[in-house]
This record gives sequence, structure tokens and C-alpha cells, in this order.
Amino acid sequence: MARWNYVIRNAKLSGGEGVDIAIQDGHIAAMAPHLSEVGQEEIDADGQLVTVPLVDAHIHLDTTLTVPGRTSNRSGTLLEGIQRWGEIKSDITVQDVKKRAKEAILWEIAQGTLQIRTHVDICDERFTALYALRELKEEMASVVDLQLVAFPQEGVLCYPHGKELLETALHEGADIVGGIPHYEWTREDGIRELEYVFELAHREGRLIDVHCDETDDPDSRFVETMARLTKIHGWEGRVSASHTTAMHSYNPAYGFKLRRILREAGVSVIVNPLTNVLLQGRFDDFPKRRGMAPIKELDALEIPVALGFDCIMDPWYPLGTGNLLQAAWMALHLGHMSGAEEMNRVFRMATINGRRVFHPGQPSDLALQGPADLVIWDACSPIEALRLLPVPRTVMRQGKIIAQSQAAHRQVYYDDRTVTVDFKPQGHNGV
Ligand SMILES: [Zn+2]
Repeated sequence: MARWNYVIRNAKLSGGEGVDIAIQDGHIAAMAPHLSEVGQEEIDADGQLVTVPLVDAHIHLDTTLTVPGRTSNRSGTLLEGIQRWGEIKSDITVQDVKKRAKEAILWEIAQGTLQIRTHVDICDERFTALYALRELKEEMASVVDLQLVAFPQEGVLCYPHGKELLETALHEGADIVGGIPHYEWTREDGIRELEYVFELAHREGRLIDVHCDETDDPDSRFVETMARLTKIHGWEGRVSASHTTAMHSYNPAYGFKLRRILREAGVSVIVNPLTNVLLQGRFDDFPKRRGMAPIKELDALEIPVALGFDCIMDPWYPLGTGNLLQAAWMALHLGHMSGAEEMNRVFRMATINGRRVFHPGQPSDLALQGPADLVIWDACSPIEALRLLPVPRTVMRQGKIIAQSQAAHRQVYYDDRTVTVDFKPQGHNGV
């Protein structure tokens, strides 16, 4: 008689170990090289990689799928993006945001992402986007974990009633306190904004995730203030600095100091390589800066670096499908992380590190008795996954299959023969 609900046979873990995985009642009940007992259903992983799902640690689901059609960005710049969004945001409705966000979430699930942290613009007295995403979070809870960040897109001190909006948003369904200190009019106001963000988060017992120093200006140094406030409030492990693109412009001595204090304060960094390589360096002639924090140097100090897709078809980024592996692929290139072990570290940023940011203190990898949330990739190693950017064969959440895909079938007609191409060299194990 079958003992388990499922047994996944002949899978490979990210370190290359072969494994069978038994699943019972939504949890991983056994993991061993060869399990003798059978499952009610058996899944042949065919030597392919099995990992925890991807984590999109930073996206804006309220603005998603508005380009083309609803608006456009002629210059392609970050500031015109804010302006264009400001022009259409008074027209959005709860139903409209839900429809667009739900479509993008389904795209992400199909591509192996089951945890999504979305920033929600709360510079809107009606809280339209917040109410829409609050409903969607409940409605889609069986397939995805959504976290909502109260994001003051147009500032806190420089926006009318900004402080009240931020606080009220937390009582109206936002989970996490956001901020945007570099957008305030003065450095002093940026610091006051952060002081308020930390005070509020401490009072309400919330995580913090601030859009911080998303600029090319090397004098924008609010991440150091975040590190200091994290220490003062004893909020280590609960604070993320998002974007942090000014780090690409700091002088080496200051960059070194900043990484040291970030590590000591337990602040994680979330980078968005796809959007920021497109949006930053716009005032540069040549060479143009890359728009990404130095992930290799941060990672070397074990500062958790997680990845976000940031935008899908919106005024800041007109492209994208929400495939987080594309963000990892871009991070690998921009970060010069092509050493063999470095590529594995980039895959960890998309998975394990994201989970650490999402739920600090909880298990971040596949584990016995842990939830059966996993992905069977159409690739046999993290490096092959980063090379092929495959869609997952199977996505499982709490022991249920919630997405499946088949690899594209490609044929070349050559020399009176039909040759099938899958980009996997024969006799090569992908590692
Ligand atoms: Zn963002």
C-alpha cells in the first residue's frame, strides 16, 4: 500500500546530490537517495533540479500591465515614470488593479515564484491599490504568499499628510513599512522620514523595506542611516534596503565602510537589476554606470542579497514576464559573478536569500517536516537553470501541484533529417 501522497523520484538537489522526496499532508516527510516505499502518485524528476520556489522580493503590482495602452514613457527615465504613474493613478479602480495584478501573479507562479513582496503606492487618500491588493492577498493565499509594503511613492514629508497615510496604510492591510528618503526635498528631511519609518515599524512591530538611494548621486547616503537606526531600535534581521543603486557610485573607502556597518546591523539588500540597469546612468555620457549595488562584495560579507523583478510592463519598465530567473541572469552579468561557486550564490539570492528576507528566522531551504513548497526545474543544476532560464516542469505548494509546463519542442531540419534541439549538450551533466 502506498505510504505517501507523493514521491518525487530521481531528483537532484542544488549541491548535486541525488534524492527521492516523499510528501505527506503538505509536508516533506522523507528525503533520501532511494526511498523504498511508494507514493499514491509518483513523479519522475528525471535527474532534474529540485529547489525551494523563487522569491520575488520586490515588485510593484499596482502599476503592472499599464504599458502599453494606459500610459507610456517617452524618455524612459525614472522621473518621467513617476510623473506618468501620477497622471493615471487617480483613474484606477479596485477591480482594475486586481485584474492586472492577478494576471502578473499567475505569470510569476507559472515561472516558479511563490513568494512575492509587492510595494503598494499609498500616496492616495482612497487607498485604491492597497484595498485591491489586500483582497487579492486573501483570494490567492492558497497559491502564493503576498506581502504588502506601504510605499510612499511621492514622499512622506514632502507629500500632504504623508505620515498619516503611511500609518493608516498599516491599519488598512499593509504588512511592512516602506519609505523613499532620497525623494524628500532635503537630506535632513530624508533622515527625518527614516526616523519616522523606524519609529512606526517599532511601535507596530513590522518589518521595514525602504526604497533607498535609488539614484546615481554618490552623495545620497541614506543606507548608512538605515543601518544606524536598525541598531538603535534593535531591529536587526528585520530591515531591507531596496534598490540602493547609489552604492554603484560610492568611492571604494566609503563602500567598504558601508558594507561593514550593513553587516553589523543585519540589514539585507534587495536589488532589481533589470529595471535599474535600464533606469540608472541616464545622466552619464560614457561610460554609463550599471545601476546595481555591488552584489558580489555584499555577498562576500554574507549580507543577504535578494532579487526583485520590480516592474512588468509599466511606466518604468515596458518589458518583462515576471520570470525572476531573468533578474538573476542579469545580476550575474552585471555583478561579474560568473565563477562556478558565484553562479550558485546568485541562484541562492533568487531562492534561499529571498526566503530569509521574506520570513526572517524561518527555515529557508528544503527540509524534513518543512512545507512541501518546491519546484522541479527543466535543468539539472542551478548553473544550468541560470543558463537556460527554463520554465519549471512542476511547481508544488503545500504538497499540491499548482503549475506544470512542458519544455518547448524545437526542431531543425538539416541534412534530410529532423534534429531536436534542447540546448543541453549530450553527455554533459550541466554542472
Ligand atoms: Zn521599486
